[in-house]
Amino acid sequence: MTTVDQVLVQIDSLLNQPLETESISLDQALHRVLREPARTAEDQPPFDRSSIDGYLVRAEEPLGKVQLISTHSPGQPVPSLPPAGSAIRVLTGSAVPTHAGLIMQEDTRPTESGLIELRIKPDPTLIRLRGSHSKKGDTLLPAPSVLQPGSITLLASLGITQPEVSRMPRIVHLATGVELVDPAQKPAGGQIRDCNSILIRTLLTSFSAALLTQKRVGDDRLTLTQALQQSLATHPDILLLSGASSFGDHDHASSVLEELGFTILLRQVAVRPGKPLILAQKGKTLAFGLPGNPLSHFVCFHLFVRRALLRLLGLTPSPFLSANLNPGATIKANPRETWWPCHLQSSQGSLTAQPLPWKDSSDLSCLANTNALLRVPAGQEARSPCEVLPTIPW
Ligand code: AMP
Ligand code: MG
Repeated sequence: MTTVDQVLVQIDSLLNQPLETESISLDQALHRVLREPARTAEDQPPFDRSSIDGYLVRAEEPLGKVQLISTHSPGQPVPSLPPAGSAIRVLTGSAVPTHAGLIMQEDTRPTESGLIELRIKPDPTLIRLRGSHSKKGDTLLPAPSVLQPGSITLLASLGITQPEVSRMPRIVHLATGVELVDPAQKPAGGQIRDCNSILIRTLLTSFSAALLTQKRVGDDRLTLTQALQQSLATHPDILLLSGASSFGDHDHASSVLEELGFTILLRQVAVRPGKPLILAQKGKTLAFGLPGNPLSHFVCFHLFVRRALLRLLGLTPSPFLSANLNPGATIKANPRETWWPCHLQSSQGSLTAQPLPWKDSSDLSCLANTNALLRVPAGQEARSPCEVLPTIPW
């Protein structure tokens, strides 16, 4: 049976070209992947400016009294240097000329004669010098980068208002299973709430992927075929099928994909939970047949679908994190590699993973606390240090 590492290598080689790019507004940029490095077109700050509210004098102005000659506000062009013995009132952010000195308001005193008394000498460090943050042409944000509020703010400060980003991967998700009902509905005897649809919808939001279609299609072979045909007409990059990926009477995923021209690359992976995983390809569409049990779904998404999304977006997947197994925690050896739901915590400079209890792959109680998956190699007990894959941004 194919191992997890082999599947990851296969996905990497199938998706060795990232998607094309598009230019978008900053308001749409959250979680999008920047594909062109952001360089500053000017020195930052672009001019010398005051970091204080106070007075601008000549740099060599001695202690004593000076005449206030004008007021200068942020947003006005740089003023001329005042003559010796005089001062300009400045506010934080005001442009200041070369050879200027600044004195904080708190270090001055108005005199009865209407002059300003300077009680300390001008301090050059109160000027934020042009280019002291970065120089024209410097790269401030490398590509690829996932855009976050901080980096989007930086782009705005550089005037990069239409960044070039990976286009959104186009996703279709069809949930099979005649037993499924909407979570808002009360299941009748034998029915169960469809959890995989919301799982997929919410997971996709952090990848800035476009969910073109999502629907429940039951277990009828013809209905599944028709739904797949319609979905393929929308040219998805990734097709996700929940359930029907095993070898039961209703498990039509593999044969229908084949009938529609897909090449089946994989039918099973040596992983727990999540063994019946289908990987198939047709043209530029990669299809995943994910095992229906929601915990298997969760694991297979994080291990494999996430990997495909990262590759499409042009991102290099980070290596798994290294963590210590919480002392006292035990996970017995299993012939299959296991990705065990766990709670990862940072303590004293290292990460500690606490495995969470789960009875079987339909047991979702552990998901309330799961923030990572812990790799337990095939045929071995869990030991420290262990590899973990965060399931929320860490
Ligand atoms: P399957 O992979 O279709 O054999 O499904 C395996 C198990 O997962 C069955 O017990 C299904 O009822 C359950 N299952 C399938 N799809 C979902 C879903 N969307 N939400 C919750 N459970 C599901
Ligand atoms: Mg089923």
